[in-house]
Amino acid sequence: MNPTVSLEPFAITEQPSSARLRFFFLDLKAQHASIAAEVAVALARVFEDQQMILGPEVTALETELSAFLGCRYCISCASGSDALLLALMALEIGAGDEVITTPFTFVATAGSIARLQAKPVFVDIDPVTYNIDPDRLARAITPRTRAIMPVHLFGLMADMEPILAVAAANNLPVIEDAAQAIAASQHGVMAGNVGAIGCFSFFPSKNLGGAGDGGMLSTNDAELSDRLRILRAHGSRKKYHYERLGLNSRLDTLQAAILRVKLRHLEPWTAARICNAAAYRRLFADAGLSGCVQLPLELAGSTHVYNQFTIRVADRDELRNYLSAVGIPTEIYYPLPLHLQPAFAYLGYKPSDFPQAELVSKQVLALPIFPELREEERNLVVQSIAEFYEVRSTRT
Ligand SMILES: *Cc1c(COP(=O)(O)O)cnc(C)c1O
Repeated sequence: MNPTVSLEPFAITEQPSSARLRFFFLDLKAQHASIAAEVAVALARVFEDQQMILGPEVTALETELSAFLGCRYCISCASGSDALLLALMALEIGAGDEVITTPFTFVATAGSIARLQAKPVFVDIDPVTYNIDPDRLARAITPRTRAIMPVHLFGLMADMEPILAVAAANNLPVIEDAAQAIAASQHGVMAGNVGAIGCFSFFPSKNLGGAGDGGMLSTNDAELSDRLRILRAHGSRKKYHYERLGLNSRLDTLQAAILRVKLRHLEPWTAARICNAAAYRRLFADAGLSGCVQLPLELAGSTHVYNQFTIRVADRDELRNYLSAVGIPTEIYYPLPLHLQPAFAYLGYKPSDFPQAELVSKQVLALPIFPELREEERNLVVQSIAEFYEVRSTRT
């Protein structure tokens, strides 16, 4: 996940028991090692062809991904941020329009709205799912509302049924920010295949990550698909003729070739993330930590794909420092909600406008969850958290 992918190993020094572990928050080297030969073949093919932007490799990825998601059209682009921007452009959202979204997300969600001179209108989150609270949605609708943009944060889909109901009642399209939720589903429907348009990111730390930036849009609407295709390539259908004002936001052929290889492994990788999450759950229960650690919610009918395994604790910063001292890397997604960021100050929000997002941002901590995470590493994470709470309880 943005903003940084740390590739620096954390050497564990204070572990007398096992041999020294080299511990990562996300180990992309391990993943690459498992597919290096396949990637090399795919890259060689692209260099042979010397078609470096779009082309048959990109079309094949789009076709394979639409089959995977069960949607009619997939349109690739240069990043997840551009996917959000292109979705709004295809819906002709611009100055004076309002788009409802969550303040507890990566900056690009609201940034895409603001970049088109439209206004991000934030709605507070549900503090258990971390997603936009559907019960607060209806109140945020005004005559200027043009779309609703839920985010499927950390890999758990937002509660789509009530969101779609509010959208339908107000005749609004839903744009899903599914950047963290490829392969997640709700009642059998994949993320990105519920609203009018789904937006995906291939940023390296996402569950399907490329060797650089990349993004994808999904839709079942032929007209939107056609518009998106034009918009990602300068607004042009016919060379040097421009129907609309578009972007240069095409997917590199090299990225497509790598992503096609990785897409073939996405199911087992996702299963491994889910498996790690289940193992964490057992370990936390066995350690008797349920009182002090709130685990990610598993919702009946939803498949969580765990782009992040985010726990919530009252003493987050102390716990994070403790874990860091024993060599366990963690991350904070996200430390400051978007309505309090300087870049969005012009919107006029103030502290306590979205109390749930503000509280959660002080308490969330993401633990390592990547597919190649080993059993002894998971054990060490939970054991160290248990130690932290033991030390505290003996001190007080
Ligand atoms: C990663 C991410 C994006 C942006 O994707 P990029 O490919 O990095 O531009 C947008 N929204 C969310 C929720 C993300 O996690």
